[in-house]
This record gives sequence, structure tokens and C-alpha cells, in this order.
Amino acid sequence: MTESLSNDAVFRDIELNYQQIQQTISDAVSCSGRKADEVRFMAVTKTVPPHFINHALKQGIQLIGENKVQELLEKKEYLVGEYEAHLIGHLQTNKVKKIIREVTMIQSVDSLRLAAEIAKQAKNAELVMDVLLEINIGREESKTGFLPDGFDEIACQIAELDGLRVCGIMSVPPVCESEAEVRKWFSQVRQMYEDLKKQTLLKDMNVLSMGMSSDFREAILEGSTLVRVGSLLFGRRRY
Ligand SMILES: *Cc1c(COP(=O)(O)O)cnc(C)c1O
Repeated sequence: MTESLSNDAVFRDIELNYQQIQQTISDAVSCSGRKADEVRFMAVTKTVPPHFINHALKQGIQLIGENKVQELLEKKEYLVGEYEAHLIGHLQTNKVKKIIREVTMIQSVDSLRLAAEIAKQAKNAELVMDVLLEINIGREESKTGFLPDGFDEIACQIAELDGLRVCGIMSVPPVCESEAEVRKWFSQVRQMYEDLKKQTLLKDMNVLSMGMSSDFREAILEGSTLVRVGSLLFGRRRY
């Protein structure tokens, strides 16, 4: 009884949170003179149990992101409805094979070696995997991702691999004190994305994945095309 009551409370929170998030997105979109369909919403579902994820899917959310292979595989069995799943966390090369048919995009490509393994496993599975290259824009030791220096060359090397398609860039900027500061990081990522699109092999890139619960509004103002929101939708994560 108590269990189902508290589930109902969480269901209700998810609905209200999603409504507020949608409002913020639409305000930011119009504020920056962009179109609503230019920004895709991802529900980040790490640590969230399947029945809550299913409730989010019922609200019309079509894209989920997980950062661990095992967790995604276990939960997928219980998810119902039409949705796409992306991997957004660091991926070990020995787990690529397990995930290759389970997601439509790997957003967290952070080495040439990983990219080569994705290309290889995709070819074995007779598919082409969409990927984003992750940039460690703040050059933080605690984070994965390519450093900005020399990034163009490595991006072109990856783009040449058969079996994957480089669709854009993903980034998580450093924790910031102010809106101005986080916008500066997003603006730098955007600039790298625009520069990279000048390369013939990468001119069709169309995904700039940046913005999380605390800063998705600022990310949209700086050109994000995909925001990844977890705790603001589902509530604080319980590990
Ligand atoms: C956890 C996570 C998010 C979502 O973070 P929130 O602050 O809960 O919105 C987004 N992107 C990545 C890569 C993550 O690991």
C-alpha cells in the first residue's frame, strides 16, 4: 500500500517536472530565435527503476540515455513502448560487442581505439553506428573525452572508419558558479563543432549534445541540439 502510494507520488512528480522542463526548453528556444524541433530531449535514466522510466515514456519522451552497459541491458527487458536508447557514459572496448545492437547512438566516444572497435563490431553486425565524439572542454583530469588540442585530426581519422558515422559532439563542461561562466564553456564547444563541420568528411554533422539538469537552458541558448536531463526529471539519484 505505502509502496504504491509513494510510486504514485513519484509518477506525479515526473509529470510535473517534465511539464516544467518543456516550458523552460520552449522559452529558451524562442529566446534564441531557434525552432522547437531543433532541440531533442533525452531522459537520463541511470539509477532509475524501469517502472519510473516507463512512466516517462508514457509522457511522450522518446529518447533515454544510460551510462552503463550492464544497467541498460538489464532494464531494457522491462521497458515498454517506442523509444531510442543512447549510451552516454565511458565505454570499455570489451563491452562494445554487447551494446552494438542495443543502442542507436554512442555519445561517449573518447578514443581512437574505442572508435575502431565500434567500427569493427558494427561491421560484424552489418550496421552503421551513429556516434558522437566526447570533448573534455575544461581539460579536467576527472573526466573522459578528447582534449581540445589536436582534436580535429583525430576526429577526421575517426570519420574515415567504415562502420560508424560521426554525427557530432558531446560535452560536459566543468561545474560553474555562474550562468555566464557555463555559457562560455558551451560557446567554446559550439565553436569547435562549427570548425569541425568545415571538414568535408564531417560537414553533415547535426548533433551538439550539451546541457544537463542544472544548465540545459544555457546550453540551448548556446546552440545545443540535444539536452540530457536526469535528476530534474526523476528526482535526486539514489545509488
Ligand atoms: C548523469 C548524466 C547526465 C544527467 O545529469 P543530471 O544532472 O542528473 O541531469 C547527463 N549527461 C551525462 C553524460 C551523464 O552522465
